[in-house]
Amino acid sequence: MSTFHNRKTIVWIQGITCNGDSHSFFNYENMKTFAKSFEIIYHPLLVTDHDLLSVLDDEKHYDYLIVEGSFSKDISIIERFGLSLETIMNKIAHRVDYIICAGSCASYGGIFRLRNPEKITGAIFSGEEQGGFWKKNDKVINIPGCPMHPRWLSDTLFMLRSGKKIALDSMSRPKEIFSYFVHHGCLRNEYFEWKVDANQFGEKEGCLFYHHGCKGPMTHGNCNKILWNEVSSKTRAGSPCLGCTEPTFPTDNIYETKTYMSLPLAPTGVSKRAYYTITGIAKSFKIERLEKRLIDDN
Ligand code: SF4
Ligand code: SF4
Repeated sequence: MSTFHNRKTIVWIQGITCNGDSHSFFNYENMKTFAKSFEIIYHPLLVTDHDLLSVLDDEKHYDYLIVEGSFSKDISIIERFGLSLETIMNKIAHRVDYIICAGSCASYGGIFRLRNPEKITGAIFSGEEQGGFWKKNDKVINIPGCPMHPRWLSDTLFMLRSGKKIALDSMSRPKEIFSYFVHHGCLRNEYFEWKVDANQFGEKEGCLFYHHGCKGPMTHGNCNKILWNEVSSKTRAGSPCLGCTEPTFPTDNIYETKTYMSLPLAPTGVSKRAYYTITGIAKSFKIERLEKRLIDDN
């Protein structure tokens, strides 16, 4: 029995998934506060007062439907309790105010789409193309990431709860979160500017753009501003950004930097010619401070 009043209701459905977004969400630091504002009516991995079939049949209105995992209308690919995902969606999507796609699979098809791009999609996108499970659906908000950061989902839900209109970008992601690039807030920015690359993964020194495949300058997300578990991020730990919030994720050879005439591709929004000119000039400087270890072993 609910002990809080006026909580917004959530039904969580899984498509083709690895459970990663659920587990990421379970790590949300302020779950107690969250639970005062939201009631999870059904979640496949949690013990709740309701089961899926009763929620599908009760015809009640719920505030938010959260979908984790890729979509498919093909019952040979996915079904739940003998029901196709299409049947489940038809029974519930019209009874909610918003449909929130948790993770890149639900948003764009993600990693599972690679296996069968004709039949496995996201909600309203298939990769970069518009038209996924639905041709169009104005209720959908995409929160990509593999997995998504728990704050991206909770911040979006709190914004919706407070009645704010959420501005979305062209891939239906909240601009408040996805206008940033992972490059913003990365502690390696000075190395990037002076074109000093990391020697190997895991080092504190150097940028991972030139030889290690970092996609921070072309990947939308604020990972380096809000951090994971409030502690760290891929680039802070010495691993390149893999671009997991983009509809093109996953790309081949994720740890390799794509080059053009042996120079890395220019960051988003920068003209190639200007970028290569600046790169050449910056590389000609030798900045002693940036060549040293940040923490001396001795
Ligand atoms: S987006 Fe990543 S974490 Fe989420 S279901 Fe797909 S593979 Fe798993
Ligand atoms: S490691 Fe990646 S995110 Fe960090 S400065 Fe270099 S390119 Fe940008």
